[in-house]
Amino acid sequence: MGAFNAEDERWMRVALNIARSKGAHPSDSPLGTVIVLDGRVVGQERNQTEELPDATAHAEMMAIRRACESEGSMELRGATLYSTLQPCGMCTMASIWSKVGRVVYGAGRDDVHQMYFEDRHVDTLTFIADAYRDDIVIEGGCLREECAKLYYGPDDDVPLEEQGNL
Ligand SMILES: [Zn+2]
Repeated sequence: MGAFNAEDERWMRVALNIARSKGAHPSDSPLGTVIVLDGRVVGQERNQTEELPDATAHAEMMAIRRACESEGSMELRGATLYSTLQPCGMCTMASIWSKVGRVVYGAGRDDVHQMYFEDRHVDTLTFIADAYRDDIVIEGGCLREECAKLYYGPDDDVPLEEQGNL
């Protein structure tokens, strides 16, 4: 998938730094998102489900909230959302509703443990492909290996208490 340019990698590195801001071990839930519009950051957040606590406080959801606030608009047309991990179903829908034009993620579903996703078959790519929008694209694998290092791997034996909401 996806051919990424230096600009994409630059923004993904920003997302990686945000993800790592409270620790880079998988148990720290280091997920980061940056939303870029016209070359500037309009929202950047880390996963905050545990701190708030809020089951919906995924990095993408939080960054979309910030971006809408800072733009004073519920639509983020033309924006690119960079996420260190493939967005879950909730965050994919939020991306569709927020009207971002492009979603770029680092590690993909197959690079990480299944605990990061809520559904066996339907996922980000299906949601985007079936959306009533032809102005949104999604590309995965930007700095894939660097991003995947932040998460439990597909075959890791993850303690059950660690497998909660991210
Ligand atoms: Zn999510």
